[in-house]
Amino acid sequence: MSKPVALITGAHRGIGAAIAKKLGAEGFALALAARSLDALNAFAAELSAQGVEVAVFPADVSDASQVEALFKGVQEKFGRLDALVNNAGITRDGLLLRMKEEDWDAVLDTNLKSVFLVSKAALRLLLKSSQGRIVNVSSVVGVTGNPGQSNYAASKAGMIGFSKAMAREYATKGLCVNVVAPGFIESDMTDHLNEAQKAAALGAIPAGRMGSGDDVAAAVSFLVSASAAYVTGQVLCVDGGMAM
Ligand code: NAP
Repeated sequence: MSKPVALITGAHRGIGAAIAKKLGAEGFALALAARSLDALNAFAAELSAQGVEVAVFPADVSDASQVEALFKGVQEKFGRLDALVNNAGITRDGLLLRMKEEDWDAVLDTNLKSVFLVSKAALRLLLKSSQGRIVNVSSVVGVTGNPGQSNYAASKAGMIGFSKAMAREYATKGLCVNVVAPGFIESDMTDHLNEAQKAAALGAIPAGRMGSGDDVAAAVSFLVSASAAYVTGQVLCVDGGMAM
């Protein structure tokens, strides 16, 4: 029997990298996707040195033809897929009055259309797995909203609706589809915030600290495990209590 295979998008840094390290350590072979091939190769070399079986697939997950090529690659390299983690995401923040249509489109295409494209392409392989799993990395902002992030909040709320619909469609086939909604997590995405923005965010976290990629990876690890076989259509907030 070959190892179970997990495909992680947006996988070479931040939350995606933490998820990859965790699932690799737990015995998954990894298919890693993102746009930057150099960054993917550097991260894959790090994982390989730790004994993880890993292959990289450069792809813009908002582009249908690149997603098609990605799955051709996964089929050829591994011939199976057991877990899909849709993690790739971007922000283009701004108050609605000033938000450009291109900022709306970029965020909706990268964060939401990608989930449609990648999940649909993954279905054939996932349904063959005895333990098919999808985990979509949304955000607490998709649950609560956030000023200056109408595009991002819409994309992340859209992921939740999509996941619940898909969970209902495939529950009888043993495919579980769930959402992890991180709060304020240390990564490149939050590094660019100024001190005032960071202080405001910290003030809204009952736990009093930012989260880490490892906090999110632990939740993903549970949701892709055999222990979560009866959990589908759920939103697990990993947010230090922000959205309770
Ligand atoms: P990050 O450090 O900016 O990493 C984002 C990853 O997504 C990168 O690997 C990037 O690689 C990839 N990516 C971006 N656009 C892509 C595209 N079109 N096609 C393929 N890959 C793409 O972000 P992060 O903080 O780790 O966030 C990961 C996920 O968690 C995102 O969905 C984000 O919305 C969500 N999240 C983050 C936080 C937080 O506080 N950090 C909170 C809630 C939710 P390339 O640039 O090479 O493509």
